[in-house]
Formats: sequence, C-alpha cells, structure tokens
Amino acid sequence: MNIWQHQLEQAGLAPIHAKVLAGERLSFDDGLQLYSTPQLPLLGYLANIVRERKNGNVAWWVRNQHVNYTNVCNKGCLFCSFYARPKDDPRAYVMSPEQAAHKVSNYGDVPITEVHVVGGVNPRLPYSYYIELLQAIKAARPKAHIKAFTMVEIDQIVRCSKKSAEEVFEDLKAAGLDALPGGGAEVMSERVHEDLFAAKPNAARWLELAQAAHRCGLKSNATLLYGHVEQTREKVEHFVRLREVQDHSLANTSGGFLTFIPLSWHPEKTALESLPAPTGVEDLREIAVARLMLDNFPHIKSFWIMNSAPVTQSALWFGADDVDGTIMEYEIIRDPTRDRKQVLTSRQLVEMIVEAGRDAIERDPLYNIISRGFENVRDAQSVEQVLVDAHADESQPQANLQIMRRDEIVTAAQGQKNRAFEKGLIGAEAVGAEHR
Ligand code: SF4
Repeated sequence: MNIWQHQLEQAGLAPIHAKVLAGERLSFDDGLQLYSTPQLPLLGYLANIVRERKNGNVAWWVRNQHVNYTNVCNKGCLFCSFYARPKDDPRAYVMSPEQAAHKVSNYGDVPITEVHVVGGVNPRLPYSYYIELLQAIKAARPKAHIKAFTMVEIDQIVRCSKKSAEEVFEDLKAAGLDALPGGGAEVMSERVHEDLFAAKPNAARWLELAQAAHRCGLKSNATLLYGHVEQTREKVEHFVRLREVQDHSLANTSGGFLTFIPLSWHPEKTALESLPAPTGVEDLREIAVARLMLDNFPHIKSFWIMNSAPVTQSALWFGADDVDGTIMEYEIIRDPTRDRKQVLTSRQLVEMIVEAGRDAIERDPLYNIISRGFENVRDAQSVEQVLVDAHADESQPQANLQIMRRDEIVTAAQGQKNRAFEKGLIGAEAVGAEHR
C-alpha cells in the first residue's frame, strides 16, 4: 500500500478512490463526502486521476476577446455588481452592433479564435438587435468562433422573438453563433433562486434551453456560482442535474456540454458585500469536486480572472485542464483596488501554465489544437500590448486596459482574499494554500 492509499484509507475515501480508478460514477452521497473531507490534498489527488485520464498533462488556453454589449439588466440579482438599472442609471450603456464590431476590429492583428459575447437582460432590445450584433461581429472577425448569450439572455431573446427556442437557435446560428457560454443557472436550488435571483429563469428553464441548444447541434458550457449563501447539498444537486442532462444530450444530439466552470463569487460592490469572498482552499475544492462528479464533461476550467492566476496554477493539479484566455476586455468583475480592466498576454498565460508543470496548448473554442508551448506567442512587448495601448477605451480613459507585470498577477479574487485574511475572516492556512 503506498502513502496515498494509506491516507485515503485513513480519511475514509478508499471507496471513492476505488470508484475513481474503475471509472464508476460517484453518487450524491459521495459528493457530500468530497465536500466535507478536510483532506484537500487527497481531493486533489483523486481529481487529478480523472483530469489526467481525460486530458493527460495538457492545460488548454485560448486567445479570446470578451464583448459585454450592454450592462442594462432588469433582473437585479443580489450577487451581481455588473448590471445597471434600465431607468436612470448613469452607468448604463448599450453598444450598437457597429460599436461591438469596432471593438472586435481593434484587435484585428491578434489571432483571436473566440469572441465571447454576454451582457445584461435588457428589455428594450428587439430581436433584430441580437441578430445584427452577431452578424456585425462575424463580419469583423469571420474566422473566429462566436460564443454568445447565457441561457438567461436566450430566455429573453426567445420571449422577444415570439418564436420557439429551436427556431431562435437556428436564426442565431445563421447570424454567426457557434456556441454558448455557461452562466446564468448560478446554483440549481429553488431556495437560492428565490433569495438571490428570483427574477431570472429557474434551473428547470435553464436546463430546458440548454437541451434545446444541444438538439440544434450547439455546444455549450455550464457554471456554478459558489461562495455566497448556497449549501453543500445544493451544489451536489447542481452536479447531478447537469450530468443527467449531459447523458441525454450525448446520447441523443450532436450538441452537449463541453466545459464546466466553477465561478468564485466576488462580493465587492454587490448587495451582499459584507460576506467574505471564497478562499483559495474553497476554490480548489470546487474545482476538484466538479472534476470528480461531472464524469461526462470533457473539460473543467479554472477561469483565472475569477480565481486569480496563482490559484489557477494550483487548480491545474486539482482537476482543471483549462485556464481560459487572454480576455482583452472584461467588464463583469474588475480589480476593485485599481478599478481597471484585466488582461494577460499570451506569453504570460503560457508561462503561468509551464511554471505549474503542465504542457500549454492553445486551443480554439472546440478544443482543436492551434499551437503548442511558446511556438505562437510573442515577446512581452507583443502585438497585444501595442494594441491595448493604442485602443484602450477612449470613452473611459480611467479604466483603460493595462498588461499586468509578472509580479502583479494578483487579480480581484486574490485581493479580496488577502483583505479577508487581514480582517481575520480566514486563517493563514487558507491564504498559504493559495500560494502553494
Ligand atoms: S447576473 Fe446577469 S441577470 Fe443577474 S443582474 Fe447581473 S447581469 Fe443581470
């Protein structure tokens, strides 16, 4: 018996280990046990077995750009700091399709393979707006995949179209939609839904729309927003419902879920900002449990902008095989200490992965290989830097993009955790784990 087997026995995790080695599905109770074990390294060990079985030593990254076309939203989710009210909010903005295309064109010399398009649920936008938005972005970036609209936005688009969900997906595909991102379900619990985001579609509707997308041949992602008021049982239920839908989609459609992304909640500037942010230990646990429970999801992502770059490096040994990408522009959360947009260059992303001991592979949105290691990245003063300098947001000069220095890769989540540590809300052990 090796040291790991001995420790798994001691921790009562040997039966789960046996199931993992045999490739058997873990049960709801197994999920509860994974959340309750204090043995975080064992959790990482178990998750890494599945991670390496599915993706070997590869860590995927993508050269992408985010377009947040509007922040106007009538849903009022209590955990959200992004939205502006439809009436009288000075922060409100809506990009015209031409403005969105212009943003994409700004990075015309960067070989972006994915444009990620999401926004608020803006009741004033007509159906034609969404079609024209996709068409404009596709015209500006014909070779890039467009991953657009959470199921919450899709619900709104279906409502204003007066068509079926399937007809809407076919229209969106014809306009340029290639895949869908994963947000909007948050935690699949009626209790949390009622308490925090009652105006949004519930879990049943989110899953119904995801299945409709899969029937139309579309790939989509799924997320879990954790670290606020959710309970462990609700998170395990979330995984069970997702993998049941995935079973059905894989058996009956050409679509399905591609990637699961645990999203570390950021309390800053939300209605719940008195709550502490999730710690690095929680972030790693969520990644690991997701990898173990979602046996039919090909990929688990640690989104560096939410988890911080250092936690993401560790997450690559706790079940994650994807770190997301270069981002270019991201409005959903910002670094609260400097209120600026965040970006990593392609070289920084690859360095981050290589330093963690994984093989960096650039992918397109469908996980086709674009480049390996450093073969397609440029120096720190790369074209991305030049373009960021040249095309920073002229309307909001105080919020311009800046490339972070290597020693500066401490994003919003990390800062939040450091402040929680300084206030004594979390222990040194938790903060230390982030830097392992
Ligand atoms: S999370 Fe999405 S739906 Fe909820 S308020 Fe924010 S932008 Fe609107």
